[in-house]
Amino acid sequence: MKKLFTILTLLILILGIMSCKNEKNPLLEEWDTPYSTPPFDRIHADDFKPAIMEAINMHNKEIEEIINDKTEPTFENCIVRLDNSGEKLNEIALILSNLIEANYNDTLEQVAQEIFPLLSKHNDEILLNDKLFKKIKYLYDNINNLGLNDEQKRTLELYYRDFVRAGAQLNDADKQKLKDINQRLSVLTLNFGMNVQKDNNNNVLIISNKEELNGMPESLIATGEKIANERNMPGKWVYTTDKAVMIPFLQYCPNRELRKKLYDMYLMRGDNDNENDNKKLIKEILNLRLQKANLLGYKTYADYVLEDRMAKNPTNVFNLLDQIWSPSIAKAKVERDEMQKIINNEGDTFKLQYYDWWYYAEKIRNKKYALDENNLKPYFSLNVVRDAVFTLSNKLYGITFKKLNDISVYNPEVEVYEVIDNDGSHLAILYLDYYTRNNKQGGAWTTSFRDQYRKDNKNITPLVSIVFNFPQPVGNDPSLLSMDDVETFFHEFGHALHGFFSDVTYKRLSGYVPRDFVELPSQILEHWAFEPQMLKLYAKHYKTGELIPDSLIEKIKNSKYFNQGFAKTEFLAAAYLDMDYHILTEINDLDVRTFEQKSMDKIGLIPEIKPRYRSTYFNHIFSGGYSAGYYCYLWSEKLDCDAYHAFLETGDIFNKDVANKFRQTILAPGGKKDAEQMYLDFRGKEPDIKYLLEDLGFIQK
Ligand SMILES: [Zn+2]
Repeated sequence: MKKLFTILTLLILILGIMSCKNEKNPLLEEWDTPYSTPPFDRIHADDFKPAIMEAINMHNKEIEEIINDKTEPTFENCIVRLDNSGEKLNEIALILSNLIEANYNDTLEQVAQEIFPLLSKHNDEILLNDKLFKKIKYLYDNINNLGLNDEQKRTLELYYRDFVRAGAQLNDADKQKLKDINQRLSVLTLNFGMNVQKDNNNNVLIISNKEELNGMPESLIATGEKIANERNMPGKWVYTTDKAVMIPFLQYCPNRELRKKLYDMYLMRGDNDNENDNKKLIKEILNLRLQKANLLGYKTYADYVLEDRMAKNPTNVFNLLDQIWSPSIAKAKVERDEMQKIINNEGDTFKLQYYDWWYYAEKIRNKKYALDENNLKPYFSLNVVRDAVFTLSNKLYGITFKKLNDISVYNPEVEVYEVIDNDGSHLAILYLDYYTRNNKQGGAWTTSFRDQYRKDNKNITPLVSIVFNFPQPVGNDPSLLSMDDVETFFHEFGHALHGFFSDVTYKRLSGYVPRDFVELPSQILEHWAFEPQMLKLYAKHYKTGELIPDSLIEKIKNSKYFNQGFAKTEFLAAAYLDMDYHILTEINDLDVRTFEQKSMDKIGLIPEIKPRYRSTYFNHIFSGGYSAGYYCYLWSEKLDCDAYHAFLETGDIFNKDVANKFRQTILAPGGKKDAEQMYLDFRGKEPDIKYLLEDLGFIQK
């Protein structure tokens, strides 16, 4: 998932400090813009609070009307009105949270600090409203006598479940406790992410003597120079802990001391015992989550969260993690030993350390697979990869993309496209925000400014946004993507397709799938990224236009299993850590560093590998929505490997019939059906884990 200063001057245009008192608040208007897109050019940071306050009032009135309706509750007068309520509020809240993640500044941060607890309180007041719940319960108890169709039944069921899981059946004192917990959590989780970002911005590696960078590729030295200039440090070289900068540094910097310095800064984010330290926050977050779960009748927070997912309970999660852990750590040890051999053969005597892994992994890639990522990158320039996902979407689903230049954006780096369906009709608007900026959270994510649903029989089309952290172009060259970046582009585009193809009536169903299912649409797209047939369609050299040579394709193919032990091991370590925190039944004595170490010792993590996320910057679980949920990627991976086989089995990876079935059964229904049922509808059988193990090279095909 998912921040500051050189671009600030541009930002003032967008989120300026000035507010125009005479003008109507643009957030509250009906937008007279193409496709009703948000008018970012007119939205200022200090428009948010008054707009949200007003939108909350509007929402409250709508809820009051539902409650005060004296006629017998019906699906129409209760559920449909509830579903349609709060439209403006949702819209504004989405814009605010998207900007906080992708284009933040100090003013916006202050606004969010005030508003997030208000939103949390407002949300609770609805979900814990007794009179409203009584109406919903009445309908739910009579669900089969109301003449509802399947989609309506499902919508009612989900609303009923939302209210119950939010505490609608608690007594008044407990309801109040829950409201206080939720409000406090909304602030703590926001601060957690901000702290990570501040340490990330402040703690950078500064090089004064160019000789220290000897042996590094010129492009990487240029990156350091560029960042130094951006930070007003001409004549120096600066490297940040943003992965887009740090990983190439770890791969190509021959100087062990420097690698250690930079990676340690990364690992210690939120753990520096300074004002940005997250250890206390972690304790408080976990404590509140546990209290919440207990109030609602669950033993642990994980039990509460997982009930609503495909996994259902912690045992099922640990079973899946354990199934992959053994082959994964075994493979990682083999990889470690291979690297140690290189060190020894080069006449060095030191033992491989965690900050050496990427450097020697690159040597393996070079030696064993004769593959140098720097030779590949010219074939994966940003525009080439973007056009690749467009081409793939067209081959599978027949959809096309048209660049739009008249849509207002929150940052001049954002591109906008219209997505057109195979029958020529308008399907969606797509925002693409490519580059790493210091006012953007790390990682990559897909979000929306509006989801698809139907209102008064009119289809409301979605506004989907993908945010990346690709390296900024240096000089006249375009941004050249690593294999990892390419995979990320395909991944996020899969989420976007899920958003484009949503076909539901009620907002409650839009994009709603369990979190351990949600990575199926995204991860399945990764399978195409390096298929030889696919590469031949898109991978063209940015300078010469020459198609990627067969020899390089062959090398990519051969290196499929390269470093997979490491990749899965660091992932699993973080997934175990997440679960271990959320199955706790006692938090008071928790010491974050000790707990983390014990958790890693328990699974037998080797010291040469660190968990993909350490606790103090694990945004997914302490700031994003992945608490007791980092495992979800793996759960979905079991599904996507199995689902991709449906294409392979036809002998045609671009099989339109399979793609259409995937669209209809997996991408379109949103929350209309249980995830298990949707998968069965697509595949006709349960997913088999063997395809995942094969895909990782952990078992032979
Ligand atoms: Zn994803």
